[in-house]
Amino acid sequence: MIVVLKKNPDRGQLDSLLQWLEKQNVSVHESVGESSVILGLVGDTSRIDMDLISALDIVDTVKRVQEPYKNANRKFHPSDTVVKVGDTQIGGGNLTIMAGPCSVESEEQIIAVAKAVKAAGATMLRGGAFKPRTSPYSFQGLGEEGIRLLEAAKRETGLPIVTEIMDASQLKYFENVDVIQVGARNMQNFNLLKILGAQEKPVMIKRGASSTYEEWLMSAEYVMAGGNENVILCERGIRTFETYTRNTLDISAVPVLRTLTHLPVIVDPSHATGKASLVAPLAYAAVALGADGLLIEVHNDPAHALSDGPQSLRPEAFETLAEKLFPLHDYVVRMKGETE
Ligand code: PEP
Ligand code: MN
Repeated sequence: MIVVLKKNPDRGQLDSLLQWLEKQNVSVHESVGESSVILGLVGDTSRIDMDLISALDIVDTVKRVQEPYKNANRKFHPSDTVVKVGDTQIGGGNLTIMAGPCSVESEEQIIAVAKAVKAAGATMLRGGAFKPRTSPYSFQGLGEEGIRLLEAAKRETGLPIVTEIMDASQLKYFENVDVIQVGARNMQNFNLLKILGAQEKPVMIKRGASSTYEEWLMSAEYVMAGGNENVILCERGIRTFETYTRNTLDISAVPVLRTLTHLPVIVDPSHATGKASLVAPLAYAAVALGADGLLIEVHNDPAHALSDGPQSLRPEAFETLAEKLFPLHDYVVRMKGETE
């Protein structure tokens, strides 16, 4: 972090700033030029609030030269994080496929979809019980009952389950959930992130529709700062001027996050496009770029789905896709090994 002081700073104020910085465990290099004084802060500056320094009378500008996230930063953790979920792992060269209906609708539906996606090669079952819907009049999910039905599908198929939490008060229902999803709308619900950081279950954070990579990684940092290192990131498309697709899949997120962070990256082509016909091509693109996994919505009767039917694949289409994704992933891993 670099702090440029105003001309002729008051010595008393400068000394109290230097004393305060010393207490923050950073070392300060003072360069006195003809027209300005520059302080170079060295050490872990991620916990220093830039705004507090900017607001001082003697300070002209403050610039970060290092990212404000430390735990999620690849610079401080060069090897990839692998998140263990039951007998499976997310990251570390595995292809995770989370599949299932947008909403859990009934026991019959979730068990049928769970069996179908398992047979097709999915490694995790994903279904929504608490649903964040734009309209209060749309189906809101089965809530606690939905989680019980996911548990039943887990018992039936052995697939670990992933489901969304919307509020910390729901955590009591998540005892048998394997991965807790934080949806795009809650990416910056810092209170929720803090509570999820204080427990041990893996947390998958979906990207907010208008969030930058840095904001997204700061959300991961919230969970990690609380002591939970099991964080997974999920790119689900961002809001742009384009209206043809539901969102715009920011496929650059895969290679960009690879350089910025060690956390596993999942891509969700279903919510990114809103169209079943676009799920397969974007899933291939994500795997080709080295994503650690995919989140794909699958429904046994998309035309009558209570949410997100138009973007849901039928089990047969999912099977055809999964059959191609695994060999593609093997090829990508092999090519990566050969070119490194
Ligand atoms: C979901 O995953 O079902 C969902 C609501 O997605 P998002 O938070 O990405 O909109
Ligand atoms: Mn959905």
